[in-house]
Amino acid sequence: MPARQTRDEEKPTLVDPHGRSVNSLRVSITQRCNFDCFFCHQEGESGPDGEATPEEIEAIVSVAAELGIGKVKITGGEPLLREDVVEIVRRISSHVGEVSMTTNGYLLAERACELKEAGLDRVNVSFHSGNPDVFCKIIGSDSYPRVREGIATAKDCGLNPVKLNMVVMKGINEEEIPRMIEFAKEVGATLQLIEYQPLEKGVTDWSDYHFDLKPLEEEFEARSSRVVEREMHRRRQYHLVGGGVVEVVRPMHNSDFCMYCTRLRLTSDGDLKPCLMRDDNHVEAVSLLRNGGSRESIKAAFREAVAKREPFWG
Ligand code: SAM
Ligand code: SF4
Repeated sequence: MPARQTRDEEKPTLVDPHGRSVNSLRVSITQRCNFDCFFCHQEGESGPDGEATPEEIEAIVSVAAELGIGKVKITGGEPLLREDVVEIVRRISSHVGEVSMTTNGYLLAERACELKEAGLDRVNVSFHSGNPDVFCKIIGSDSYPRVREGIATAKDCGLNPVKLNMVVMKGINEEEIPRMIEFAKEVGATLQLIEYQPLEKGVTDWSDYHFDLKPLEEEFEARSSRVVEREMHRRRQYHLVGGGVVEVVRPMHNSDFCMYCTRLRLTSDGDLKPCLMRDDNHVEAVSLLRNGGSRESIKAAFREAVAKREPFWG
């Protein structure tokens, strides 16, 4: 495997007009999915227009790395549906210090060890309920045992940490949080509680499902031996007395979340995307490559996308 960039070599050079450094890239590699989660925000993409090739993704990531981006998160759709996902991970990992992936877990058991070998460091598995009936209802697929197996295999293959993404929704799974903390502790995973987020401001049925995680943060703080505040979004990680780690992702109406956002996105069809919540300010990147554009032109696209970054919740 080629030498990896180390943390010390990461020098963020991309800073947006609000003084926010950009040091991570969230790369969607497909919009295809084998599940049908009713709440899915599809990473803010609509209408797929083809997928970038492994070579194109590598070219974009290598430019990002030169601009100081040291971390890449691979997402989708469901990233493991791509036959060439291991090649994509291998190519990305030769340029940046950390590669992670968010997956629905359905195909994880069969690919986790190959992915680790190719340079995947860690994984987030979406696991919204420990109750098989509730889980299958949420994801619209009868896949609970496969996802459980994927979580166990990810641990066995050395992906570390394994995080369980639980989108918390009122009336659906909020009462399960204590049990999910215990489950995550048992399998040696971090539980990541994510607030349900609509794709646009003012969506009317959003409040039907929204469950405010702020009061829970206060409770976790009182129960923790250690609280770690991550740079990204100022997310807090609670190390609970008696074991168990819970991280809380609270984007809604949260100006800190936006003020401490260090991420840019690449859509599955190759545009740079400054914000999950907006689709009116994308900047073309892969199409530049396809038209013979130079590395300098890709760098200019990155700078343009960074210049367009605006805190969504100001
Ligand atoms: N298919 C993969 C998966 O489900 O993990 C990756 C793509 S999915 C869009 C990325 C993450 O966003 C998942 O953890 C998913 O649960 C979460 N997510 C999807 N829609 C959401 C919403 N409306 N609000 C909050 N999180 C959401
Ligand atoms: Fe969306 Fe992921 Fe669910 Fe697929 S598995 S529908 S991409 S949240």
